Amino acid sequence: MHPDLEALLILQEKDQAVTATDEALAALAPELATLDAAQATAESALATAQAAIQAAIDRRDALEGKIANYRTMQEQRRQRLEWVRGAKEASTLMAELDLARSVLAKEEAEFMRSGDAVAEAERKAAEAEKGLAEVRARQAPQREALAGKRETIVAQREQAFAERERATANVGASLLARYERIRRGKAPLALYPLHGDACGHCFTAVPTQRRALIQRGASIEGCEACGVLLYAGE
Ligand SMILES: [Zn+2]
Repeated sequence: MHPDLEALLILQEKDQAVTATDEALAALAPELATLDAAQATAESALATAQAAIQAAIDRRDALEGKIANYRTMQEQRRQRLEWVRGAKEASTLMAELDLARSVLAKEEAEFMRSGDAVAEAERKAAEAEKGLAEVRARQAPQREALAGKRETIVAQREQAFAERERATANVGASLLARYERIRRGKAPLALYPLHGDACGHCFTAVPTQRRALIQRGASIEGCEACGVLLYAGE
């Protein structure tokens, strides 16, 4: 085999080790996303429950204001009743007083219920808060384990990358540039073994003459179709 190709193959091996750590890191993402989603659900349930408390308080306050208003109006009717002369006017006022009294009674009952609704909303929010705390507690060891795995892989990646950098020292500058250019392309790897009489990546036939050069290790040949560098496999 061409000596430069041997150095390149070693480099490719190191690059594959780096890629493996990248894939291992990416594989952790779904697990983390699942944890984040569960936590977000619990957080949003708490936010909804807290908003419901405010809505219940607002409704209770509105009823309180309405009732105070009704009471003032009733008081004004009673005062007018004391001064009124005509019997017809008096009976109209009496009827109004009666009607308003029953409306007020309904509103007061509604006000009591609105107070219960506030208490209920507060109970639900406390429950949601407890739910969120439980999710966090349950996730803590899982997140810790994930962080530990991540740390290990990051360290492995650093080591693999350092080895890959060292391996580049044994490759000529122009060949290294060619290798890097191929790596940025579509093929997963830059070097492929011959597959019979064809390119090991795209399986396009390699002319006999070039195949002979590759097998003898006389020169470094690229596939005419996909551009990867070819070497004679075992
Ligand atoms: Zn090819």
